[in-house]
Amino acid sequence: MRIALLGPPGAGKSTQAERLAAVFHLVHLSSGDLLRAEKTAGTPLGRRVRQFLDQGVLVPDDLLVQLVQERVRGAREGFILDGYPRTLAQARMLDGFLAGEDMPLDLVLIFTLEAAVLTRRFAGRRICPKCGTVYHLDSRPPLVPEHCDRDDAALTLRPDDAPETVRRRLETYQETMAPVLAYFTQRKLLATMDASGSIDAVAEQAVRMVRRHFDLTSKPCESL
Ligand SMILES: [Zn+2]
Repeated sequence: MRIALLGPPGAGKSTQAERLAAVFHLVHLSSGDLLRAEKTAGTPLGRRVRQFLDQGVLVPDDLLVQLVQERVRGAREGFILDGYPRTLAQARMLDGFLAGEDMPLDLVLIFTLEAAVLTRRFAGRRICPKCGTVYHLDSRPPLVPEHCDRDDAALTLRPDDAPETVRRRLETYQETMAPVLAYFTQRKLLATMDASGSIDAVAEQAVRMVRRHFDLTSKPCESL
């Protein structure tokens, strides 16, 4: 089972990808985590990554491709890619790479959400500058307001979550995703679902969609 989970920033992709990975025994590959890990590592690649992330613009495809391909190769038994590919160039490169490895993508699941729902999610997000734990004032509040449960450090708004950066990220997402969606529609891999519900409701629906997709696609093989 090889899945790509896509959607706007703030759609809850990472949380849902984790759930799906647990249910279907998949390796969870998050491009965001890969990038942040690289950024923190302070390598030459990491310094390049940092420049782009801090400006709220997309990391160039060649950087991301290097990071993702390395990890995908180690997940032959099945994976869920979270937030990747998010440009047409990335989609094509990933497709080509996976075809070459004889492990083609089975499903591209797209989360859709209202802009207003997303804005609210970002405004409530907090991160611990000390240990990196992410909180949310609505869905995952710290025990003591504005302080980390683990180390009591004062929580901050991540630069990525600042309103101006968020607005740019959403615009960039809409612009770059349109051709990606068209591409995967043509490849007949696309399934879309509304993801504005609670974490549990969205998880339930996502699991149902994945089950249905794989039941449907397995039928022609069984009848042969
Ligand atoms: Zn902390």
